[in-house]
Amino acid sequence: MNKLDSALVASAIKDAGFALTEKVKDADVVLINTCSVRQHAEDRVLSHLGHLKHAKRTRPGLVVGVIGCMAQRLGAELLDHDAVDIVCGPAQIPQIPDLVKRALEDKTKLLSVTENIRQKTQATAANNELRTMNSLDDFELAYDSSRSYIPSQAFVRAMRGCNNFCSYCVVPYVRGPEVSRPAGQVIEQIKKLAADGVKQITLLGQTINSYNYPAGDKTYRLADLLEMADEVDGIRWIRFITSYPVGFDEAILRATADLPKVCPYLHIPAQSGSDRILKAMNRRYTASEYLDLLAKAREIVPGIAIAGDFIVGFSGETDADFAATVELVKKAKYKNCFIFKYSPRPGTRADAKLADTVPAEVKRQRNIELLEVQNIISGEYNKCFLGQELEVLVEGPSKKPHLDRASHAGQGQLVGRTATDYIVVFNGPESLAGQFTKVEITKVSPLTLFGRLVS
Ligand code: SAH
Ligand code: SF4
Repeated sequence: MNKLDSALVASAIKDAGFALTEKVKDADVVLINTCSVRQHAEDRVLSHLGHLKHAKRTRPGLVVGVIGCMAQRLGAELLDHDAVDIVCGPAQIPQIPDLVKRALEDKTKLLSVTENIRQKTQATAANNELRTMNSLDDFELAYDSSRSYIPSQAFVRAMRGCNNFCSYCVVPYVRGPEVSRPAGQVIEQIKKLAADGVKQITLLGQTINSYNYPAGDKTYRLADLLEMADEVDGIRWIRFITSYPVGFDEAILRATADLPKVCPYLHIPAQSGSDRILKAMNRRYTASEYLDLLAKAREIVPGIAIAGDFIVGFSGETDADFAATVELVKKAKYKNCFIFKYSPRPGTRADAKLADTVPAEVKRQRNIELLEVQNIISGEYNKCFLGQELEVLVEGPSKKPHLDRASHAGQGQLVGRTATDYIVVFNGPESLAGQFTKVEITKVSPLTLFGRLVS
């Protein structure tokens, strides 16, 4: 979501006549897009702001804007920070070019966030809210949502907000209530991106499987959206993230199996393997219901790659609860997992009602242990690819140099992904970025496949 917002803001700012730079020392304006999901992300922003406060001593004209979820969460409190000139919430990003111009001209502090984010939008049809949504929709359609740093790929928002209220999660309070964008608009945007050369789109929603857009007698669900996107010329691969394990319509799995462009990949967080903890997290499913869903996915979509998220050290998580999570990870046989240490978020139900009982060191240990369990599983999957030829969409030069740079001297190291989201590193010309190519896998590690370009 944040990468999409950053791409849209960068595109809008450029359109307003500004030039983009990656270096703070060259900038007249610094915009920081922020995440509030864990405290660590917010701490990093505060540390950046500390540096910028220092920079402003010698460059008083420098304008600093904070946008995104942290801006929405802290609002005026953040505007009080010495370094900050603009605070702009995720629903207000269409205003960014104007806010920046005003800050440069008037040297005043500017705040633009949604007041009472849950209350106001409870009545989804409230005129005001519709206006905000429409202007956000116009903004999405007007600007370039392609990931300029990854050629041929773009994110497309299908939904905003979330109504699930997992007890640990700040998202419903900073992104507001769940709203599905009109299906026609989503498809219009995909067509526009395809015309601009985009080959892979990723539909985004906090619970993308609950996409629901009624229009006359027809209610568009995610499976319908996938079917319509599959027909757009020029698009080769379609992904959708993230799925929520309740209310997961079988039609989505059938669409994934039947539609040639829909990638056989499912990101479906479990968060915990302990039913007691799942209940405290307000996740509304049991470990065994979750595993049944994975089994169904594998039955309907053979070869589907499944990824998960886990939170370790949630309030009250005992050794036995953690052991249940380890069991679930072993049974689920994920392609990969994202594992996070529980971080209490102000304003959430867990923070208000449950103590953060698990010591930091225990959270750290559990994180390491769960990752080790998953790495063995990932390594097993990866071994099966040795000697196989895989199709990848090339992202560009590999950011971190890998040791295996033996063959094809003189060529850079590239990174690409398979339809099932496996990362493949190989040597090849940079001109392949944004193209589909075949790679023969010659070596594997738990996290990465290495290979040789097949001409
Ligand atoms: N809507 C998506 C993503 C939510 S945020 C979903 O439900 O899957 C991404 C991930 O961050 C979550 O899946 C969860 O594993 C993690 N997360 C959310 N809140 C957290 C918190 N308070 N502490 C630690 N991890 C958290
Ligand atoms: Fe947060 Fe749960 Fe919504 Fe995901 S589904 S954004 S974890 S409240």
